[in-house]
Amino acid sequence: MGEPLLALLFMLSAVVAFVVAAVGWRRRRVTPAVGTLAVVAGGIGVWSMTDGLLMLNEGLTALHPLLVVKFTAVCAMPAGLHCLSLAVVDRAWRLSRRTALWLSAEPALVLAALLTNPWHHGFITVMDPAGLWGNRGANVGPLFWAHTAYSYTLIAAGIVRLLGAWLRGPRFQRGLYGSTLLGTVPPALVNVVSTFGVIRVDYLTPVGFCVTTVVVYWSLVRRSLHELVAVERTHVFDMISDMVMTVDLAGRILDLNPAADRVLRRLAPDLPARVAGVSAVDVFGVMRVGDGVETDHSVVDARGRGVDLNVRVSALVDSRGERVGWAFVGRDVTALNAQRWALREANARLQEQVATIEALRADLAEQAVRDALTGLHNRRFLMEALGREMRAAGVSGGSLSVALLDIDHFKQINDRYGHGAGDQVLMRFAKLVGGRVRAGDVVARYGGEEFVIVFPGASGEQAVERVEAIRVWVAAGRVPAGGHTLSVSFSAGVAGWCSGMDAGEVLHAADEALYAAKRAGRNRVVLAGGAGAVVSGDAVPGTGAGTGAVPGTDAGGDAVPGAGAVPGAEAEAAAA
Ligand code: GH3
Ligand code: MG
Ligand code: MG
Repeated sequence: MGEPLLALLFMLSAVVAFVVAAVGWRRRRVTPAVGTLAVVAGGIGVWSMTDGLLMLNEGLTALHPLLVVKFTAVCAMPAGLHCLSLAVVDRAWRLSRRTALWLSAEPALVLAALLTNPWHHGFITVMDPAGLWGNRGANVGPLFWAHTAYSYTLIAAGIVRLLGAWLRGPRFQRGLYGSTLLGTVPPALVNVVSTFGVIRVDYLTPVGFCVTTVVVYWSLVRRSLHELVAVERTHVFDMISDMVMTVDLAGRILDLNPAADRVLRRLAPDLPARVAGVSAVDVFGVMRVGDGVETDHSVVDARGRGVDLNVRVSALVDSRGERVGWAFVGRDVTALNAQRWALREANARLQEQVATIEALRADLAEQAVRDALTGLHNRRFLMEALGREMRAAGVSGGSLSVALLDIDHFKQINDRYGHGAGDQVLMRFAKLVGGRVRAGDVVARYGGEEFVIVFPGASGEQAVERVEAIRVWVAAGRVPAGGHTLSVSFSAGVAGWCSGMDAGEVLHAADEALYAAKRAGRNRVVLAGGAGAVVSGDAVPGTGAGTGAVPGTDAGGDAVPGAGAVPGAEAEAAAA
């Protein structure tokens, strides 16, 4: 082949190599091997290009820049192929700094030898352009041979690595290993043959390696990617922490992963080394089997500790669709269940506490509107209820009345029988009054021995009637207090509510009426309304205004002026 034609071949080869380098570099993220290949292809491109240029060059010297560039690329080739073989065989391979350092040592030494060649002629002995492509022995020195030996060792190691992977590696990867071998071995052989001067085809080395890059690139990128990243199912099967076990229809274990093996041995430590063939029922007890069944299964391990297993079952079918066994996927959920129980208990406790707190709160809220002594509503509640009822009456246009009740001569009960007896009277009085009102009426202790009844829907006259009935009822009753049985009466003022009145006004009106009742002789009911006031309770003769002031006469039967009109009069005395 003529030199210009050869030079053209080199240039073409260089262009192809550069294209592979550029495309490979852009796709270097597909797998590290593609990035490595791109670098190798770049080296081959430089090698081809410089060879081509060198062929056309005359008057070559050892320090010719093209020669230096060429040898840089040539020296990088074995290192590149070494990396490529590593990257192809192991997808996880990455170029470490240390590897990069020792791989660049030899090329650096070669360059140093080349640059210093004019002084020692150890690399190139005779500078003959023609000789560069021909009989090497004639014009290269020992340093060249040292470099060659090193390069061949590195390339041979790469080829052996690929060969080993091709023979023993995963089946789906063999195509890649094979094509890499196929692309690498022929140009390497060509190089060996040329170097030792058997035949002069040295120029085919870069061209051959250029073909290598194309073939390897094709294998790496064009082949379906899923082959490169194929999930190794067996690996996953062994790695997952869930237990996976297959069982035949007779219940014998067919296969299991290490996680399942661990659980099995925890339950039955005496299991043989080879578990396949052992009855699953013997180890796990009876398990509910059915396609798609998911159950929680509790077993006890060899140390007597409970183990909770969550097990999913699916049917194993053969190629004809016939069921041949079952696949179990299980998970140890003991800790999870313990956590769940603890959580459930904590939740129950919390709910109990919430209920207690709610009861306490409701109790507190109730206490806040109740009078502690009598259990009736207190003044605070009364004012709220009265306001509410007034608003309702205002809206509906209905009636509303208020009565203010005051126990007659109560102070004297305290004075005569003691404060405790007075309290008892208050409690009993509250019960008597509270038991005589209708649903919807509001009874409250207004303060001391004064009580208020709100009558929604009742006019003043109606309210007077009802209070009068209570007065008669109370006056007729007997109140036990401090070991005595007393007769108690009250006076009351009633006020009807008119639109526009506020709570203070209506209570004030009732208070005025109450005052009138007291003045009129007590034990009576007075309706507010000025001159035309309705007065009841005058059925007690001999109790003129201010005259009923002999309360609490004791059992001795002291004067009881006006039976029933004198509060605190001993019942016995009253009866007498
Ligand atoms: P009147 O017929 O004019 O109403 O005479 P009274 O004695 O009932 O009225 P006064 O206002 O003079 O006395 C009310 C007494 O009620 C004074 C107070 O010591 C007593 N008292 C107020 N609250 C309580 C209480 O909770 N328990 C007891 N035991 N006594 C109370
Ligand atoms: Mg009073
Ligand atoms: Mg009083």
